[in-house]
Order: sequence, then structure tokens, then C-alpha cells
Amino acid sequence: MSDSEKKHIHSFQAEVKQVLDIVIHSLYTNREIFVRELISNAADALEKMRHEKLVNESIADKDLPLEIHIDVDEDAKHICISDSGVGMTEDEIQENLGTIAHSGTREFLKRLKEASSSNGGVQLIGQFGVGFYSAFMVSHEVTVETRSFKTDAHGMQWTSDGGGQYALTAKDGLARGTKITLSLRDDAHEFADVERLKDTVKKYSNFVPFPIQINGEKVNTIQALWTRNKNDITGEEYTEFYKFIANANDDPIFHMHFSADVPLMVNALLYVPATNMEMFGFGKMDPGVNLYCRKVLIQQESNVILPDWLRFVKGVVDSEDLPLNISRETLQDNALIRKLRKVITSRFIKFLGEQFKTNREKYSEFWKTFGLFLKQGAVEDFEYRQEIAPLLLFESSSTENGETASLSEYVSRMRAGQDKIFYINGPSREALQNGPYMEAFAKRGIEVLYLYEPIDDFVLSSLHEFEGKTLTSADQGDLDLPDAPEAEEPSEKTPSLSKDDGEILCGWMKGLLGDKVTAVRDSKRLVESPAMIVSSDSMMSASMQRVMQAMQKDMLPLGKHSLEINLKHPILIQLFQLKNQGGSESFLKMIVDHIYDNAMIEAGLMDDPRTMVKRNYDILEKAITAKEF
Ligand code: ADP
Ligand code: MG
Repeated sequence: MSDSEKKHIHSFQAEVKQVLDIVIHSLYTNREIFVRELISNAADALEKMRHEKLVNESIADKDLPLEIHIDVDEDAKHICISDSGVGMTEDEIQENLGTIAHSGTREFLKRLKEASSSNGGVQLIGQFGVGFYSAFMVSHEVTVETRSFKTDAHGMQWTSDGGGQYALTAKDGLARGTKITLSLRDDAHEFADVERLKDTVKKYSNFVPFPIQINGEKVNTIQALWTRNKNDITGEEYTEFYKFIANANDDPIFHMHFSADVPLMVNALLYVPATNMEMFGFGKMDPGVNLYCRKVLIQQESNVILPDWLRFVKGVVDSEDLPLNISRETLQDNALIRKLRKVITSRFIKFLGEQFKTNREKYSEFWKTFGLFLKQGAVEDFEYRQEIAPLLLFESSSTENGETASLSEYVSRMRAGQDKIFYINGPSREALQNGPYMEAFAKRGIEVLYLYEPIDDFVLSSLHEFEGKTLTSADQGDLDLPDAPEAEEPSEKTPSLSKDDGEILCGWMKGLLGDKVTAVRDSKRLVESPAMIVSSDSMMSASMQRVMQAMQKDMLPLGKHSLEINLKHPILIQLFQLKNQGGSESFLKMIVDHIYDNAMIEAGLMDDPRTMVKRNYDILEKAITAKEF
């Protein structure tokens, strides 16, 4: 044995061991998906090869046809899957088949475990980026022989029984590409059956754009579905193709098949999946659209063809106008690509708008799963912000619990004289409905959008306006609301402090509260509640302050806010009287602080409500020892 042929034993990275453990021991149903995973890897390697051939001069075995061969030895119970793709160098093998590079690997393993214990979890394995290891579901030994297309690389052989280690040896005489040999486990002999394999390949890999031969017989129909006429494609074919390109097992929510000649020649077939993998606690998804030129893959999981916030979209974009030999490095600043991106993005946004209009129920389902991505787009992506706005949905005071309204629908319901779109952020519908901020709106019959996510405030404040109506947080201080239906002046029966008395009370309270508030004011809005915090910073609603506060705990001083008080409320009327009668200063201060703290709680701005406990007891003690009881 020469030095280079020495066998080196390597240990798998700890996380790989865990993946293998989950794959081998927890995933038992539907083991046939190993066929799909290995073929999908072979197809990826061939796609990369096809591209290399266009841009690279020196390539090993340049004339080798791009194909996948599956050879079954029914007696020996061996399956061999080989491709003439890019192959792997020694370093690449170690990196690809010995480690997993996932951001948040621990979290990832936890999710994989959860998915594997749930029904159908095995389906997801490809989406977890660990498809290769599925070979060990059916094999007691897996051998990978591979030679990279790079002319200076030598052949390598990788072998493992799926325990903790793998052996790596140099191997001469290999043709370019990768050959994976599975020695089937006793309980997996059923897979060494040509007919069974044919069915499996047809089921999962019919759209692989390279010939697949099983023991010499071609089994797949190669077709670029996206180049075919829409009218000739069945729903089933669309779904099957989705499952193939997304390596998924669910049905998509939507698909959009779009062709154009101007301003660019383009065929695009885009899908929205049914599940949001980021919701499963994965890190950020990779983009899901592959970029082709005349059916040749230019860039897999392209990050140039759609903006980041559309990374959940899966599919294919093919443009004949792209130069075939365009290098991946220059894609980013290619003017044609920019144009293509604009065309596809706008068309897809328009498509979503059409779905909203024609298929509300399905759109709502889409919104629940991927709404957050559109919100991200509205905040970050200045270019498409205005186009995204009509796609946003929110609950509101006029919708049923759980139902949503678009901004257009809101505008169409606006009261005469209303020139703003109002929104309020809070933890739940109930808290918002019963809080002080809604009182003035409820009285006037003005609809208010209910926002539950911190990002929602950023979305609406970055939009700033919609159809000429300013988007305004309902906790703003100087809101100019149209008159309430009935007379605003205090009726004879409702006792109220006079305007002058109110002014005295406000000034006195401001003195006690000091810098905690910008001002204390007589409220034009409050009906039932004694007081509320309003934002005196038109750029920052209370809920936005809340978010900032949470993000940067001690660093940010609170945004500016004022206290509005209700001069008709018995507590404030009594407070004024008690002050004039010379009530104890410490007790008066206690009441004022308490009113302020309660209002801060309603605004969601109270940092630590425990500071109120002692005062609560003091007040309880006063109440319980009061003469009247
Ligand atoms: P994924 O395909 O999602 O990356 P896998 O576990 O299926 O995850 O494969 C891991 C990596 O191993 C692939 O990304 C690829 O780099 C490499 N690989 C696997 N099979 C092949 C093959 N047939 N030819 C070349 N590289 C391969
Ligand atoms: Mg794979």
C-alpha cells in the first residue's frame, strides 16, 4: 500500500453522530425516501457540472455524459447510485459527509428530533439538509467513491457503518463523479428490487432533468415543466414538480406560472409552500428559487432573483436573455438580473394581490403562515413597500375575532370627515378593546386596527400613509378626532371639574410627577377610565417605545409621553377636592403616583409592577380602615 492509499479513520463531528442516531433509530416509516435523497444529491451535482462545463476550461472527463445510474444486485442486496457530477475533493468530503454546518445546530437537532417523532417526520429530512444520512436507514455500510471535476484532484473512497467513525482512503482509477454503494441491512432487503426502485424513482424523482437508468433501463421523463404551455399542464403535474424542486412532501398553497417576452424573455414557475420552516425554529431559510438560462441551472437557491423577504418562495426562473456563461460572482451586479428581479418580484406581488381578491380564504391561510415575511418586506424594502401595502392584513375593532381586514377595506369603511387610519398595538384583542385608548374611538364609531406583533408598529410607521391617509397610532397625544355623534359638552347630570379647576389640577399633578411626564392634560378622549398615557412623540407610539425598551434595556431613555386625565372621573374630582381641603400630602402623592402607574400598565410601559405592591397595601389599609365601612 502506498502512502497515499493509507486508510485514515476519522470521527464524525458530534452533531453528525446525533443526526445519524435520530435517522437510524427514530425514522422507520417511509424509509424509501433515501432513494429520493440520494438522487436529489446526484442531480444537484450534475446541475453544478453542467454549469462548470460552461464556465470552466479544465475539467476532468469532460465528455462524460451527465447521467444517473442505479444498479441493483438483487442477490448481494446492494444498491449503487452513481452520477457523473462535480464529485468531491478530499476536503469537500470531510466537510460534507463528516460535519453539519448549521447555524444554531443545537436548536436544529432538537427540531429534527421533534420532527422525527411526529408522524411523517421522515419526509422532512431533505429539508433539514441532512438527506445523505438517510442512506443509513437502510444500510449497514455505505461507501462513497468520488472524484472531483477539478483536474488536480485524486479519487477518494469514504466508508462508514453509521457508527461514530468513517474511513477515508485515496482511490485511483475513478471516473469523474460520485458512486454511492449501499449494503442493505437485513431488515431492508426489500429495497433490492428493481421494480420497487422504479416505482420509487417515478414517484419522487420523475422531474430530475437528467436521465436516470436502473440496471440499464431509462425510467424518468425529463422535462422542464416551466417551459411548457400552461394549458397543457395538470394540477397534479404542478404539485409533483413542486415536491421535486422543494424536496417537500406537502402540497403548495399557491403556484404561479408566468411567461413573458417583454421586457425580458422569462418563464417562471413559483410556489408558496404550506409550511414555514422558520416557524419550526430553524434559522433563516435559504432562498428557494433556482435560476436557469435555457434550462441550464445558473444558480441554485439564488439570492439575486427575489428579495430576501421572499425567501420562502420555491421554484424556477428561466430567462433566455441571460448570458449562459455568466459567473455566479457577477450575478449580483448584473443589470439584466436586476431587471429580471424587478419583473419577477412585481409580478409575484401582483399575483398575491389577485389571490387576495379571488381566493380570500386561501390567502388568509397564506397570510397566517407567511404574513411576517411580507411585513419584513414592508419595513425593509423601500422599493416594494408601496406594492406590499395592499397585501397586509390586520384584525380591527370592526372585524370578528380572528378575522382580518386589509388597509383598503379599512379605508372604504372610514367615517365621513375621518382622514387618518388608526391603529393600536397591544397584547390581545381583549386588552385593546377594554383599554383606555379605544374609548374615544368606540364612542365615535371609528375603526381601529389591532396590532399584536411588535413589528406591526414598524410596518405601519414605515408605510406612513396609505391611499393618502396618514397611518396614526391611537396612543398619540394630540389626536384630532371627528366629533362624537352626541354632544361633547358635559351634560347637566355628569359632574365634572370646570376647565379652570382642571387646569389647576393638571399643573399640580405635573408638579408631583416631575420629569416622568412631559405634561398632564385634560383629556378629550377618555370616557370611562380616569387616565391614560399618550405619546407626545409623533414618531414613536407607546408600543414602539415598549419594543425599544425591551431591546436596549437600560440604555434608552423612555420616549416622551404625557398623562391625560378624565375630569369627569370621580377619582379625579375627589382628588381635587381633597387637595383643596388640605389632605395629607403623602396620601395625595400616593394617589397621583398610583394613577400614573396604572396608566403606564395600560400602555404596556410598566417595567416592574412590583414597585406598586407596597403602595397597593398602603391604599388598601386606608380603604379598609375608612369610617364608612
Ligand atoms: P444537502 O443536499 O441538503 O446539502 P445532504 O446531506 O443531502 O444535504 O448532502 C450533503 C452534501 O454532500 C451536499 O450538499 C453535497 O455537497 C455533498 N454531496 C452529497 N452527495 C453528493 C454527490 N452525489 N455528488 C457531489 N456531492 C455530493
Ligand atoms: Mg441532499
